[in-house]
Amino acid sequence: MEDLPEVPLFKEEEGGISFNSTESDTFIYMNFMKSHRCYDAVPTSSKLVIFDTTLQVKQAFFALIANGVRAAPLWDDKLQRFVGMLTITDFINILHRYYRAPLVQMNELEEHKIETWREIYLQYSVNTLISITPESSLFDAIYSLLKNRIHRLPVIDPESGNVLHILTHKRILKFLHLFGSLFAKPRFLQRRISEVGIGTFEHVATVEESASVYDALSIFVERRVSALPVVDRQGKVVALYSRFDVINLAAQKSYNQLNMSLKEALESRSCCVEGVLKCYGYETLETVIHRIARAEVHRLVLVDSEDLVRGIVSLSDLLQALVLTPADILSVKPEASSLTPQR
Ligand code: ADP
Ligand code: ADP
Ligand code: AMP
Repeated sequence: MEDLPEVPLFKEEEGGISFNSTESDTFIYMNFMKSHRCYDAVPTSSKLVIFDTTLQVKQAFFALIANGVRAAPLWDDKLQRFVGMLTITDFINILHRYYRAPLVQMNELEEHKIETWREIYLQYSVNTLISITPESSLFDAIYSLLKNRIHRLPVIDPESGNVLHILTHKRILKFLHLFGSLFAKPRFLQRRISEVGIGTFEHVATVEESASVYDALSIFVERRVSALPVVDRQGKVVALYSRFDVINLAAQKSYNQLNMSLKEALESRSCCVEGVLKCYGYETLETVIHRIARAEVHRLVLVDSEDLVRGIVSLSDLLQALVLTPADILSVKPEASSLTPQR
C-alpha cells in the first residue's frame, strides 16, 4: 500500500459506516469520504515546490519540469501569504495569449514575472488560493475540487501555515481504491457505464491529429477540458493529448513552434502512457474504476466497437456520481466557476 497511511476501521461514533452495514449502497462512497480526513490521504513523503510570485514565469515552468511536479502554490512575500497556484493550465493560457508566429520570441513569456502575469490574467476574477485543512473531510475536498473546477487542492496546516500536500482527484481515488476494498462492494458497481450515465457523452471536444498544437491549446482555453482525444480523419481515436502533455513544449523548448502538428508533438513526447486508455459502454462501473485507478490516468475515452469517440469518463465524473450526487449536490456547470479566465 506504498505511502498511504493505515486507515482505522470505521467507527459508528465517527459517523462512518460499518463493514457489515445494511446502509443503502448509494451512500457508501459519500460516507467513506465524509468519515476520512484530508490528512489520511496525505502521503508520508512527497515533493512539494513553492514559487515566489517574483519568479519569472518561464523559470517557473522549467522548475516544474526539473522537479517533476505538476503545480506549485504561489507565495507573495510582500503579503506574506499564499495567493494562488501555478499549474500547466497557466502555461497553456500564457502560450495561447502570447504566441504570434513560428519561432518568434514571446517577450512576455521571457520577461514576465508570475505576479505580472497574474495582474493581467486575474484582474477580474478570484485570485486567492483555494485550500483545505488537514482535518477537513475528503468529502469537503472533493466538493471544493469539483465546485471550483480545479485539479490541485493544497492541504494547509492552519497553525503553521505550511502546505502539507497537494490533493488531486487521482490521489483521492487511489485512497478510495485501496481502502474501499475493505467494505462490501455496492451492487451498482456491476451496472454498465452506459446504464449509469457517468461521464460526458455529448459535445465531446476532440482534435484531429493533423491539427496544430496551437489549435489544441485553443480548445483547452475555450472548452476548459483537461484532455482531448486525438482522432484520425474517420473520427477514430488514435491518441490522447492532455493538458499535462503541454509541459513537454517547455521541456523541449519548442513552445514557439506551436504550428507543429499534434502528430509530431505526440511523437516527440518524452514519456507517456502507451496507446489510449479506453472503455466501452457495455463495461461495468467496477471495470472502469479499476482501469482508471490502475493506469493512474485522469480519464478514459469511451468508444464504440469502431473506436469512434462516444464520451469521456473522467475522475471528476466518478467523484461527482459516487460522492456528491448522493449528497444531493448537483454537478456544477462550467460557466458557474469562479476561476473563469477573463480576457
Ligand atoms: P491543471 O489541470 O493544469 O493542473 P487546474 O485545472 O488545477 O490546472 O487549474 C485551472 C486554473 O485554476 C489555473 O489557472 C490554476 O492556477 C488555478 N488553480 C488551480 N488550483 C487552484 C487553487 N487551489 N487555488 C487557486 N487557484 C487554483
Ligand atoms: P494529470 O496527472 O495532470 O491529471 P493526466 O492523467 O491528464 O495528468 O495525464 C498524464 C499522462 O497520461 C499524459 O501523458 C496523458 O497523455 C496520459 N493519459 C491520460 N489519460 C489517458 C488516456 N485515457 N489514454 C492514454 N493516455 C492518457
Ligand atoms: P476533468 O476536467 O477531466 O476533470 O472533467 C471535467 C468535466 O469535463 C467532466 O464532466 C468530463 O467528462 C468533461 N470532459 C473532460 N474532457 C472532455 C472533453 N474532451 N470533451 C468534453 N467533455 C470533457
